[in-house]
Amino acid sequence: MPKCKWCKEDGEKEQMVCYEKPTNRFKKDGSVMMSRSYYHNACDELRIEDEVFKKKEAEELDGLYQYLLKLHNLELLDGRMFEKIQDLRNGTIKINNRKIRKSKEGVSYKQMLDTYQHVSKNIDYAIRTKQFKTKWNEFSYVFSIMVNSLNEVNLLQKRNNAITIPTEVVSNDFDIKMNINKQTKKDDMDISHLL
Ligand SMILES: [Zn+2]
Repeated sequence: MPKCKWCKEDGEKEQMVCYEKPTNRFKKDGSVMMSRSYYHNACDELRIEDEVFKKKEAEELDGLYQYLLKLHNLELLDGRMFEKIQDLRNGTIKINNRKIRKSKEGVSYKQMLDTYQHVSKNIDYAIRTKQFKTKWNEFSYVFSIMVNSLNEVNLLQKRNNAITIPTEVVSNDFDIKMNINKQTKKDDMDISHLL
């Protein structure tokens, strides 16, 4: 009985997904030895999901990373800077002595990048006019600007999404009515939040 590489439990070979890949060893008859990985069907789906998630994370992080290098004119982000980003991503940062209560995953790299870009004018102004002693001071100051604007940008994006729904779904009258109602509700909610 092969062991599932994902959950480490045994499974029935016939009911599992098998991935084969050639090794650099040979059998007696000269053919290449293959290494086989087995997964339960459900575990294989989780594995693929995980792969997709990690790839997306890596891409989003790279986008944010490159943006920050350019913004701060740096060749690389040092450990402290990177830690700040990771803490926010994992939802472990404190703002005004309060832990961010987002999803358990914290703020996505994309949300961070979107927010940096949204408040880029404020950031450019701060970098131009403030006298920062070190790059770390500059990074931290600008990072705070971004963190403090996260909610605002998040709200704006939600509203924009609500407005774009009706143009996407125009299959019949019923759908359109439904979406208009949704949109009005959303706007009411947003306004009350701002007040
Ligand atoms: Zn499994």
